[in-house]
Amino acid sequence: MNIANNRVVSIHYTLTNDAGEVLDSSEGREPLNYLHGAGNIIPGLENALLDKVAGDELNVTVEPEDGYGVRRDELIQKVPREAFQGVDQVEPGMRFQAQTQTGPVMVTVTEVTDTEVTVDGNHELADQRLHFAVKVEGVREATAEEQEHGHVH
Ligand code: ZN
Repeated sequence: MNIANNRVVSIHYTLTNDAGEVLDSSEGREPLNYLHGAGNIIPGLENALLDKVAGDELNVTVEPEDGYGVRRDELIQKVPREAFQGVDQVEPGMRFQAQTQTGPVMVTVTEVTDTEVTVDGNHELADQRLHFAVKVEGVREATAEEQEHGHVH
């Protein structure tokens, strides 16, 4: 069975950056299961997997535009320290969910002063070219419920 929309795909993968450093891998874990065509994974990887079958191995290079996006300066903002009331200590590296006009976004604290906190809403892998080594472990039809929900059960 080939990979197509509304099919559940299991893959093992290793993700490296341009420098060859491993950023993420399913090695030693269960394979990643996703619903093809539902935007569960980044577009560059999803597109490359179309029509592949179990047993196929492929190396995919994904440009930022088809990955986690291009870094945007407007996603870096200074907010008043008071916005973090209830948080004992705000430190660089902490991550929070921020409410925005387009929905919730994860932001990372990059700088803290007495009065202001700088938060960065860019994905940590923004601007990065990604290299995936992928092996397709299995492909099956999604259930009606999975298709309705847009994710794998
Ligand atoms: Zn569900």
